[in-house]
Amino acid sequence: MESFTRTSFGGHVVFGPGTARTELTDEVAALRVSKVLLLTTERAEPLARELTAKLPVADVFTGVREHVPAAVACAALDAATMAHVDCLLSVGGGSSVGTAKAVALSMRVPIVAVPTTYAGSEMTPVWGRTENDTKRTGRSPDVVPRLVIYDPELTVGLPPAITAVSGMNALAHAVRGLAADPLTALVGREAVRVLKAGLPKAVAEQDRVEALYGAYLAASAFAVAGSGPHHKLCHSLGGVYGLPHAPTHAVLLPYTAIGATDGLRKLAERIGAPTSLHAIGMRDEDLADAVDRLPEAADVLVAAYEGKWPA
Ligand code: NAD
Repeated sequence: MESFTRTSFGGHVVFGPGTARTELTDEVAALRVSKVLLLTTERAEPLARELTAKLPVADVFTGVREHVPAAVACAALDAATMAHVDCLLSVGGGSSVGTAKAVALSMRVPIVAVPTTYAGSEMTPVWGRTENDTKRTGRSPDVVPRLVIYDPELTVGLPPAITAVSGMNALAHAVRGLAADPLTALVGREAVRVLKAGLPKAVAEQDRVEALYGAYLAASAFAVAGSGPHHKLCHSLGGVYGLPHAPTHAVLLPYTAIGATDGLRKLAERIGAPTSLHAIGMRDEDLADAVDRLPEAADVLVAAYEGKWPA
């Protein structure tokens, strides 16, 4: 056994079908907070209001946007400051949690996360913010949600196309965990196994429990392992060319996960995930610019742009 170090992250986790409706109110009450800012999207607002009907919600922020643009982070912080909240509660995918994290970085108030995708941000100390076409990321224990309610029922309405790419995003977290300390690698391996079995069922709308459980395991592993070259490449492309986060992961993962290409490609095809950067909105001129900016990733970028599978 080699020597290793390990710092784990994560607050209190409640996992189970129906828990957002049966446990959220009591779990938040146990945190003894008095004013909550609800952060969500316009799409999820009715659900978020329903789930938090018995909580002391002081204001609702629905301006969430992907990659946390600086203007959105500022607007959310203004809302939180004006309402004097002592808790941020996100209902939604990684963009909603990400906006809560941007506020928590300044306000240092606890976050409660109710995820509706498999992005996994709720388990990590990683925050991100986009300014002038550049996405900055960092790590801080202050942004790790104090409470996470994982309710697979909330992901039932996630369309198959978003399920597929969000699931591949989770798989990227699991794969990253494999390279970390022994316990994290163990969690990463189990996450790969559970996601491989669960994602096809989730896309076919048969069962969402395994997919969300796998996403939870994967995010827990990623939280410890931290970003690697794959994640850094995804963030660069997302920030500069506005590429959507989860689809970018889905396309790049089979190219960057050395040794697992075949299995990942087969899974991506089986669940209908996109397989080229061109297909998710990257343009010819973006590719040329990206190769100039990131020469070390030129081969991966050119192959992934065309969806040309490595031999
Ligand atoms: P997202 O939150 O933007 O959601 C993607 C889309 O799915 C949106 O249109 C949303 O409205 C819709 N959606 C969400 N839940 C739904 C549901 N249950 N039913 C129907 N539609 C639903 O995207 P995401 O992929 O969840 O998160 C991406 C963001 O999270 C990026 O900014 C990324 O950088 C960040 N992220 C951060 C970490 C971290 O550790 N900090 C990890 C993963 C992702």
